[in-house]
Amino acid sequence: MVKETKFYDILGVKPGCSQDDLKKAYRKLALKYHPDKNPNEGEKFKQISQAYEVLSDPEKKKIYDQGGEQALKEGGSGGGFSSPMDLFDMFFSGGFGGPRGGGRRERRGKDVVHQLTVTLEELYKGAVRKLALQKNVICDKCEGRGGKKGAVEQCPTCRGSGMQVQVRQLGPGMLQQIQTVCPDCRGQGERINPKDRCKQCQGKKVIRDRKVLEVHIDKGMTDGQKIIFNGEGDQEPELEPGDIIIVLDEKEHPVYKRSGNDLILRMEIQLVEALCGFQKAIKTLDDRDLVITAMPGEVIKHGDVKCILSEGMPQYKNPFEKGRLIVQFWVQFPKTLPPEIIPALENALPPRQECMIPDTAEEVTLVEFDPEKEARKRQHRQAYEEDDEMQGSGQRVQCATN
Ligand SMILES: [Zn+2]
Ligand SMILES: [Zn+2]
Repeated sequence: MVKETKFYDILGVKPGCSQDDLKKAYRKLALKYHPDKNPNEGEKFKQISQAYEVLSDPEKKKIYDQGGEQALKEGGSGGGFSSPMDLFDMFFSGGFGGPRGGGRRERRGKDVVHQLTVTLEELYKGAVRKLALQKNVICDKCEGRGGKKGAVEQCPTCRGSGMQVQVRQLGPGMLQQIQTVCPDCRGQGERINPKDRCKQCQGKKVIRDRKVLEVHIDKGMTDGQKIIFNGEGDQEPELEPGDIIIVLDEKEHPVYKRSGNDLILRMEIQLVEALCGFQKAIKTLDDRDLVITAMPGEVIKHGDVKCILSEGMPQYKNPFEKGRLIVQFWVQFPKTLPPEIIPALENALPPRQECMIPDTAEEVTLVEFDPEKEARKRQHRQAYEEDDEMQGSGQRVQCATN
């Protein structure tokens, strides 16, 4: 049981969730609220990053689960939060946020991240997707100067200093100097005379342009994998453009679940099939048909798991090697049976075991019990009554064999 759920709530996960689910939730939100995409959601981005930083670190998570945010602030280990951008950079192993490492600080533009939703079929077969993007390119008309050659002049407002100094009188003999960035040249110290401004870019030196990228999705790529287009980010004068980074987002498949290179398929079979054998066809992700057979007399139990070798996902960079196709059997039992068939059915099945019932036994009634519903109820209760853990105290009705 955890003390607070705030960080879990921020990421939209439950306290017991796996690190994988956590990562996934974080990535989705971080992409959505990243300042590149959503400049107004900086605070939200920070919260998401902090929540993830804590919950992804076993040490910090433990402190948080036990003592909440307060306990983290009071120390524990490791001290305060790192910058959300650092965390994000780390997460995308050096993708985001433009300048990295001292020397490159002024020279490189920001990287741009886009999410691309792909189907499991595309990841299985490989695909080429065309992605149309808007990006800034250097204006070709003025070659990034913003105006005619020689049109740059000293900013008349700040006389080239880029700063403006205001003097305020605070009281008799008390003056305060406030220095602000010059609003007319935004600190550049120079400007382009409005009459010489480039007509195409209005003096902005860059224009928006539509760019179509061909994204090659290789067989076996995974959810969250990045495809990097070096130097395809926004162009800016005197800056090396950053990269465009495509992050794959695997769409949930209606039939298959992926687990590494294995594929998991839940197959419903009827009780008659479970007992008397069956043949079933399976449609693969590349549209082939596989047939599986259970021989008559080979009983498949509810929840049995079997697998087909080399029919899972292809291995990335080694696509002829494939994972397994794992089949989970779900036996559909009939809701009721017509009473007249019971004797024949009973004759056909292995005999039942004799059950001894003591004379003093009390007659009780079985009612429906839904474990999932109970678990939900319990969670709800836990959220309110912190320490009062309810142990399942349901009565057990047992048949007294032996
Ligand atoms: Zn121009
Ligand atoms: Zn100025």
